[in-house]
Amino acid sequence: MARVQKSSLSVVPVTPTSRRFINAPCDRGQVEELGAVREINLQRNRLKKANLNLSDYAARRAWQNFKPGPATGNGIPLFSRRKDRSQLRIGLPRVLNLYSLAPFFTAYLNSLGIPFKNLVFSDYTSEELYKEGAKRGAIDPCFPSKVAIAHLHNLIYKHHRRKPLDWILFPKIASLPSPLSHTLAAAACPAATATPESVRAAFCKEGDLFEQQAIQYVSPFLSFAEPELLTRQMWQIFAPLLQLSRGENRRACAAGWQALGQFDTQLRSKGRDILQQLEQEQRLGIVLLGRPYHNDPGINHKIMEELQRLGYPIFTIDSLPLDDDILGTLFASEIRAGQIRDGRDIGDVWKNSYSENSNRKIWAAKYVARHPLLIGMELSSFKCGHDAPLYNLIEQIVEQSGTPFFAFKDIDENRSAGSIKIRIETIDYFMRRYRDNVMPVASEPGETGAMRMAR
Ligand code: SF4
Repeated sequence: MARVQKSSLSVVPVTPTSRRFINAPCDRGQVEELGAVREINLQRNRLKKANLNLSDYAARRAWQNFKPGPATGNGIPLFSRRKDRSQLRIGLPRVLNLYSLAPFFTAYLNSLGIPFKNLVFSDYTSEELYKEGAKRGAIDPCFPSKVAIAHLHNLIYKHHRRKPLDWILFPKIASLPSPLSHTLAAAACPAATATPESVRAAFCKEGDLFEQQAIQYVSPFLSFAEPELLTRQMWQIFAPLLQLSRGENRRACAAGWQALGQFDTQLRSKGRDILQQLEQEQRLGIVLLGRPYHNDPGINHKIMEELQRLGYPIFTIDSLPLDDDILGTLFASEIRAGQIRDGRDIGDVWKNSYSENSNRKIWAAKYVARHPLLIGMELSSFKCGHDAPLYNLIEQIVEQSGTPFFAFKDIDENRSAGSIKIRIETIDYFMRRYRDNVMPVASEPGETGAMRMAR
């Protein structure tokens, strides 16, 4: 039997009848005419434009300029001119929790007189970036952690070569700011915290590559859950490097917090707008239940973009609105029953609330379970020791509400485009069925899928 390869199609003619079987992993493969392919592309792009993807937005916005305003303060000159900071060029790897905290660092440095254009970020994760830079293997935990070596390689061998960098700034983030209440702690994942040290080792094992390249590797240990401590930690590392006064450091930290606040507010207000639109149109949206770096298109393998193209707006955990009216409605029954103290409390389902990103995932799973128009999509990386104990809990929280739950677990550097497409088509099919079967019954605020089905 002859197999005919026609662009992305595998067409298998079955002679002598005119029946043909087309083996194609996506909708473009179901047509043979170029015009029809164009029409599919146009339609997918229309849907993409009509449905915001806040994961993609956050992945780009985190690395933009938040333009801290000129600070004033008690007649003290804002910038010391003892060192010409305007000439400094600083590289930052686009990895791990910097996907949520980069605005703090860029605004801090920018407010100290280092132009935003001199802050150089590694490229987004891609297959090429990983292949080029991952040969120094010193880390073998999860992909988000080990890809950091490739990002340093990218900074040194691409960006530094183009125009020299003075420093590479790769902080060890020990704890994170938290929007939640009554948790035990807000620690970062230890694998993520330690990654800058493993990366340093990888680049120093056969001679200090940073020294050879005249780059200073700056890797402070920072506690974002304790702002006063953070100010002291920033002072200790940056005072000798930038000849800072304490006042300058304090004001620069304030600029950093202001930028983080802006980033947070912009995301959540977009989230609120989209939720309102969904309520008006009685449509479904999807929440990415993942960690901040799952916004990186090379870590999430564009899974969320594929869903966006099918007509679903995409939320991240950090874009879910925290307004009292929404939280009060969603969590009203548990608050009344005394199970939780407010809508940011996860004490009813998770006692070991030490790990901030894990806490947020659990809280978002509860949010999704209670919101009638939201569906959860968990993304988790291969070898993630923090996600493994949460798999069942998150699934149970969502499924007990009668809401469908979907997950891509163990994702790593391999992007299997065909199988991702097929799974996404299956998810789309179940979402449509859920919408057709459950949504026609108009939703009440705070009502779960199970409650609607019971009506
Ligand atoms: S939370 Fe999981 S995926 Fe993230 S750095 Fe830690 S082990 Fe890796």
